[in-house]
Amino acid sequence: MLSAKNIAFSATIASDAAEIFTQVMPNFSPTGQAAPTLRLVLGDQLNPLHSWFAQPQPHVVLVLMELRQETDYVLHHAQKVLGIFAAMRDFCAHLKSQGHRVRYVAIDDASNRQSLTANLDALVAHYGAQCVQWQAPDEWRLDQQLTTWGGQQPFACIAADTEHFFTARDECACLFGPRKQWLMEHFYRGLRRRHNVLMSPDGEPEGGQWNFDHDNRKPWHGTPPEPADPRPTHDHSALWATIQAAGIQTFGNPQAAAFRWPLNRAESLALLQAFVAHALPHFGDFEDAMATGRIRLFHSLLSFSLNTKMLNPREVVQAAEAAYRSGHAPLAAVEGFIRQILGWREYVRGVYWAHMPGYTEVNALGHRHPLPAWFWTGDTRMACMKQAVGQSLEHAYAHHIQRLMVIGNFALLAGLAPAEVHRWYLGVYIDAFEWVEAPNTLGMSQFADGGRLATKPYAASASYVGRMSDHCKGCAYSAKTRTGTGTGKDAGKEACPFNALYWDFFLRHAERLRPNVRLALVYRQLDKMSPADHEALQAQAQANLARIDTL
Ligand code: FAD
Repeated sequence: MLSAKNIAFSATIASDAAEIFTQVMPNFSPTGQAAPTLRLVLGDQLNPLHSWFAQPQPHVVLVLMELRQETDYVLHHAQKVLGIFAAMRDFCAHLKSQGHRVRYVAIDDASNRQSLTANLDALVAHYGAQCVQWQAPDEWRLDQQLTTWGGQQPFACIAADTEHFFTARDECACLFGPRKQWLMEHFYRGLRRRHNVLMSPDGEPEGGQWNFDHDNRKPWHGTPPEPADPRPTHDHSALWATIQAAGIQTFGNPQAAAFRWPLNRAESLALLQAFVAHALPHFGDFEDAMATGRIRLFHSLLSFSLNTKMLNPREVVQAAEAAYRSGHAPLAAVEGFIRQILGWREYVRGVYWAHMPGYTEVNALGHRHPLPAWFWTGDTRMACMKQAVGQSLEHAYAHHIQRLMVIGNFALLAGLAPAEVHRWYLGVYIDAFEWVEAPNTLGMSQFADGGRLATKPYAASASYVGRMSDHCKGCAYSAKTRTGTGTGKDAGKEACPFNALYWDFFLRHAERLRPNVRLALVYRQLDKMSPADHEALQAQAQANLARIDTL
């Protein structure tokens, strides 16, 4: 991919090794003065501990840009645009306070050409730069753009490592190669061993097992109390006015006067400490739980800080392991949490790089239905969807089970077009960057890659939501009813749309899914039903889809 002969790639994107990061020697002009080097810092590369920033260098100009190119490639949640711009501005102030030369191209800067490479052209000319460096983008689109641009320049262009991840971009591809299924568990165990995370001195996993997931599936009934929301508050009214004046389109609640996401490393570290102290001990028990009016329960809210690189995954994993070693948090909770970061986060990145370009267009199940209107308003009578979509629009956040087993589950069962679902997820969440969002949405949640990432579709009927949450109790629909209306306490309530859609999904895709041994139980249940039952379920599913905008 990095074929351009004048692009040197330091560290071959092997993230493990700060020591193999190339030290670039300044070019010297005929006067003996070092010619300027531009170092580009992207909006998700706000890591003050990166070796680039160890000490100011007079010949280096650090460049940050707010770009329409980035605000407009997908429709973003207002808080995502605000959060990234505000964190970039904070980072710029930090760099300047450390004595670095910084050129910050603001969104309303008259010289801003609103394209990454058009701005680079202008800045190279302005500074007479003889070298441009960037940290390897995590997104294929940007990587391509910079690589192509770099290949056309007459001077050196150098891509450096971000010094962030545990693994190299191509590590999954190297490990799994042509295998049909890429098992996260296999990848994760290798990383536990390699990085000596939660390992006993005898080389066995701590506690004698790798995975404590079966302990981590409790519903939450109000105890222990959910810890207070530890996020800081910022007033971004002025920045919001600038964003609006620039004409940037967004959706969701901007909360500009009471913005709740961290802007820098110090605030991110405070969030991490609060999570470890108050939420981590219960993270495992209630990892899959959901509750009305609760946006995070015992989840960490750290994804924005991690994905913008204000926090390093190593320090998060270390803090969690230390909590176990000191007796503060149980092993099941700590292993469950570490699995998300050392396991899933690194793994989905590997899947992304192995399958780009093309992965964002996958649609193995041939799903085509447009998104219902309430994905943009939260205005639905399904209580679980109202909570999950509603809080996504309000807070730019939903926790994993809401994303996977409520919103994603509905999208899968209803046959929504994966590309549209992908764009919605990519826009709505504060932490959404394509390298992590696309494999989660298209692979894990929509099975659109045909099972590369998930061994079976994450499909569930209302009974799952009823077991893991209190949503069904207050819902307008009857969770126990598949077709028509409920009886007894549910008399007069229509059947929950999830139920008929669930069975219809497996009937529709029987040819592809029946051979999957992990779905044997589902198909045994379907086989026990009569053809008339099948027809009734299919008719109910069609009726649900016909009025999807008003469900
Ligand atoms: P916690 O539950 O506290 O987990 C701790 C950390 O583990 C997270 O901050 C995150 O960095 C990491 N993590 C957890 N699960 C995953 C996962 N499946 N893949 C990668 N990292 C994980 N995560 C994103 O960071 N960006 C996304 O755009 C994104 N889109 C998703 C879309 C769908 C359909 C699904 C099912 C999941 C998605 N995830 C995404 C993964 C996960 O839902 C979020 O990382 C998590 O909800 C963020 O909240 P938290 O920080 O409170 O996480």
